[in-house]
Amino acid sequence: MNIHEYQAKEILRGFSVPVPRGLPAFTAAEAVLAAEMLGGPVWVVKAQIHAGGRGKGGGVEVVRSLEEVRTEATRMLGMKLVTHQTGREGRIVRRLYIEDGSNIARELYLSALVDRSTSRIAFISSTEGGMDIEEVARRSPEKIVTFQIEPAAGFQPYVGRNIAAALKLDGDLSKQCGRVVEGLHGAFLAKDMSLLEINPLVVTKEGRVICLDAKINFDDSALFRHPDVAALRDPDEEDPTEREAAKYDLSYVKLDGTIGCMVNGAGLAMATMDIIKLFGEEPANFLDVGGGASREKVTAAFKIIVSDPHVKGILVNIFGGIMKCDIIAEGIVAAAKEVALSVPLVVRLEGTNVDKGKEILARSGLPIVSGNDLADAAQKIVNAVRAGG
Ligand code: ADP
Ligand code: MG
Repeated sequence: MNIHEYQAKEILRGFSVPVPRGLPAFTAAEAVLAAEMLGGPVWVVKAQIHAGGRGKGGGVEVVRSLEEVRTEATRMLGMKLVTHQTGREGRIVRRLYIEDGSNIARELYLSALVDRSTSRIAFISSTEGGMDIEEVARRSPEKIVTFQIEPAAGFQPYVGRNIAAALKLDGDLSKQCGRVVEGLHGAFLAKDMSLLEINPLVVTKEGRVICLDAKINFDDSALFRHPDVAALRDPDEEDPTEREAAKYDLSYVKLDGTIGCMVNGAGLAMATMDIIKLFGEEPANFLDVGGGASREKVTAAFKIIVSDPHVKGILVNIFGGIMKCDIIAEGIVAAAKEVALSVPLVVRLEGTNVDKGKEILARSGLPIVSGNDLADAAQKIVNAVRAGG
């Protein structure tokens, strides 16, 4: 789960991590009021969307009068902000954050994440912070330095010192940096984060190290432990189909292709997507209906798949283990009738009662094509989609 920058900064404040003072605003009048309360003389009006790159897209403005605060707030609220992270469709700005303007001397990069290859929390740092870290990673990867946290020892001050050295901070700035790293590490662990990105971490002309931007992703599997975090969810920022899928406990991720997939098991879903690509087409989604693929779940999954206008065909690939193939076939037939399916459907069933299952599909009166194995099924749906389009 993602949250907004202003919410992330509020969490970091709770761990004594230095961030600028700021207040959220939902209207231009609230933005002006917030600016008055902060007192100025320099403010930054920041669009709050769950995506980075706002600065380049016109979503971050440094201003020097209350009038400008009003003008920028009015311009940003309701605008469609397009950044390299939002895709072409962009995001509508509904919330703003008004914060104290900082006197920036240097912009650095610092993030923490769970490094899956080492099973440790890793800090990633770079002297080249600001708006173009992706470019730095591409062009000069040697400028990005990674530090692992030894889990048995936990956070140790030397990690903070090493990161400070990599960021070319010494003396008091090194000490401040160490405290920032320690605070970030504490917040990361306590709140079960999966990503915490500070870009930029800045050194101000007054000699302070502060977090000017903050992006946090939380581990969804641990959200039940953090009702305070779960309450920060912003449905306006979530994909409506992914939200619908979550209601039925379906793992669904929308993709850009034309072949909708309904599969049980994440591994089989990945293999199914791979084989669609192997035969030259692209999957429209990842969808794992899970172990107990009930009729309700199958129907919900079908509805979600066909609600995507890019879907030109559907491939169902289900292994009937505990859930028998005949039961699954009945679910598929009922679901296909209920959603009045208008695109080709290829079904590959394998496992317990597979013959009974295939018979149910054949007798359904629906134009369902049966696949004999995974390659056969993938080939058939790819052919059908190409013939149709
Ligand atoms: P994004 O990463 O979405 O572009 P940031 O919060 O990183 O948004 O802001 C982009 C840039 O705007 C920063 O790199 C920094 O130069 C400037 N900026 C952001 N917040 C402030 C602030 N409080 N004071 C001064 N400059 C700021
Ligand atoms: Mg940023």
